[in-house]
Amino acid sequence: MRFTLLGSGAVRNNPRRAGPSQIVHVGEQRLLFDCGRGACLRLAQEDEKVEEIDRLFLTHLHFDHIVDVPYFVFVGWNNSRQNQLRITGPRGTASFLERLIRPPFEQDIASRLGHGKSEFGLDPQVVEVGDRGLVYDEDGVRVSAAFTDHSDMPTIAYKVEAQGQRIVISGDGLPQDDFVEFARDADLLVYECSGTQEFLDQQPWGTWHIIPEALADLATRCGAKRLMIKHLVIEDITGDLTAVGRMGETIQSRYDGEVFVGTDGLVVDLGSK
Ligand SMILES: [Zn+2]
Ligand SMILES: [Zn+2]
Repeated sequence: MRFTLLGSGAVRNNPRRAGPSQIVHVGEQRLLFDCGRGACLRLAQEDEKVEEIDRLFLTHLHFDHIVDVPYFVFVGWNNSRQNQLRITGPRGTASFLERLIRPPFEQDIASRLGHGKSEFGLDPQVVEVGDRGLVYDEDGVRVSAAFTDHSDMPTIAYKVEAQGQRIVISGDGLPQDDFVEFARDADLLVYECSGTQEFLDQQPWGTWHIIPEALADLATRCGAKRLMIKHLVIEDITGDLTAVGRMGETIQSRYDGEVFVGTDGLVVDLGSK
């Protein structure tokens, strides 16, 4: 399995850090997780064709994680997507997509259909995840879901298991009690790290996120071999470009595994066992 962080940022329009998005390759299979600001641009920079990616998993419906979904859907349709697109996400995903695709783009869709475009590839199949557990099992790839506590929104963490490897990808938020078991022995744990305690204490949304010390403890309890941090909001608001590196050092001082501070395009290739 190969993991690529497409976007290491979040809400703010940081040119160095696109919004949340990441892709996992298992052989020829590609699974995209979240589709935030700039995700499709970052895919192009990785020589990935949107129309060839037909499995998208959403962690939650905060706009920073989903704002590139309409571009992803429409450019895939425009470029004659060959396979049925399936979008998996939390409760509310079906309603979000129903209102996002057809109604606002009514004129665009009518004009293209009127000029001979097929409807195939426009409307995604939707899977809503209401409970923890297995949500996907195809061609030797299994994806399971667990939930995190985040701003009273249903928020999912996904675990991808294939080729004897295990990658766990958080959305935002704090782990629930079952998370350690869920992420046990992960080869790679990719978790949001929005800022330090001092920083989060100053934000009205600060309690929605985990602090570096708690994340180090979590990765240790999970037995994760590697930890990558993403959703690096702190530099957007403080303007301090060294802050994320210091968060990585804080985590590394408390955790024995390998720490990666996320950057756009950062790859961890796990190979296969
Ligand atoms: Zn977010
Ligand atoms: Zn969020």
